[in-house]
Amino acid sequence: MENTLGADAAPMLLAHRITIDPTDGQREYFARAAGTARRVWNWGLAESLRQVASGCKPNAMALKKQFNAIKYLDPAWLDADGNPWLRSVHRDAHAQPFANLAKAWSRYFAQRRAGEKAYPPRFKKKGRCTDSFYIANDKFRLDGKTAVLPKVGRVALREALRWPGRILGASVSREAEQWFLSVQVEVPDDVARRRRTGNGIVGVDLGVSSAATLSTSEKISAPRPLRGALRRLRIRSRRLSRKLESARTTAGITGRIPKGTRLPVSKNRTKGALALARLQARIARVRRDFTHKLTTRLCRENQAVAIEGLNVKGMLANSRLSRAIADVGFYEFRRQLLYKAPRYGTDIVLADRWYPSSKLCSHCGVRNATLALGERTWRCAACGAHHDRDVNAAINLQRLATGALAARTALPEASRAVTPGTAAGTGPAGGGKVTPVRDEHGQQDGSGQEENGAHLCARSR
Ligand SMILES: [Zn+2]
Repeated sequence: MENTLGADAAPMLLAHRITIDPTDGQREYFARAAGTARRVWNWGLAESLRQVASGCKPNAMALKKQFNAIKYLDPAWLDADGNPWLRSVHRDAHAQPFANLAKAWSRYFAQRRAGEKAYPPRFKKKGRCTDSFYIANDKFRLDGKTAVLPKVGRVALREALRWPGRILGASVSREAEQWFLSVQVEVPDDVARRRRTGNGIVGVDLGVSSAATLSTSEKISAPRPLRGALRRLRIRSRRLSRKLESARTTAGITGRIPKGTRLPVSKNRTKGALALARLQARIARVRRDFTHKLTTRLCRENQAVAIEGLNVKGMLANSRLSRAIADVGFYEFRRQLLYKAPRYGTDIVLADRWYPSSKLCSHCGVRNATLALGERTWRCAACGAHHDRDVNAAINLQRLATGALAARTALPEASRAVTPGTAAGTGPAGGGKVTPVRDEHGQQDGSGQEENGAHLCARSR
């Protein structure tokens, strides 16, 4: 195979999330700016919902104009002294929500057009949403471990920006009490590229009993701290809900809390909420670290990685199962694989959601239609092969990747699309369709449903 991806390759978009060490004043400003962004989002969403209800498509530019006309005048946006409080927050924080809103709506309409399940954008609720706000690239400056941000000035960072390249923008966000600066950089291709250490082809089954099973029979379990932390999470959320319950009783509310009610806030409840948030942030960190190490390893060691295209198991799941699924973090796993793959020149093969990776015998290709969810091992009725459920699924996925690669090298330039028949290759036939995804440069919109054969150009190193 030759490397068809050369100098014409576009630079990659990568984001570096850096911990901020803010002063109390900066912390206060960040909270205010994030609150402003949330409130503007909610205002824009309410307006656009009105437009949708009256039969038009929401127009973000018109909305923004509409907002600009009232933002320094409308009583809702003035403080107690009649001054517009938006002036104390940098403009980007209250302009960006309109761009985000436009994106959310166009995703919604695209999904509806495609006949997929579509969810319109939702209102953000304080304490329930991610607190964040945006800063445009010409409004801030980085100087080693210092960032100069609008309105707050010099901010201390824990580390310097990792990559050279053109900075596209940044956002400030919060997780528990910690604030982060996430800088988006257009990283030159030669810097972003990583050397691969192997040329394997691997199938990965994300699972229930072990976090990931590879087609090499290796089972990778989720980090142990996660188990304990999840137990503590249950305890702490129970404690918090008890406190909330007692606050409700004190306030004399039964049933649903009426909209707009503010329960009296106790110190203990605030503490409980913070403890819970801290634990959730820790769990997210442990999980992210695990997923990062696994996805990097998979991309580094393999020329092709095959996974299930959709969270099939999660869709079938009962609640106990979905807890285990949540441990693996399917969508985060897939997102990381997809953005890392181009850096290593690795192909990611997403199996079609109907591809029965668990049910096919990886030995003879016969489908075991009666295989139940709980069966960890099974014997093929046709050939007698004994299978570990997860390893068998991973091997089938690996076959899919092998077939996709073979089809790509065998076919002439013009007809590189992978068809269901060739996708299964010499392995089991199962009506599976492959969806090779590569070189999207972090631009995935989360659908990942690229079915264009043009994405299948040869590349190896
Ligand atoms: Zn068999």
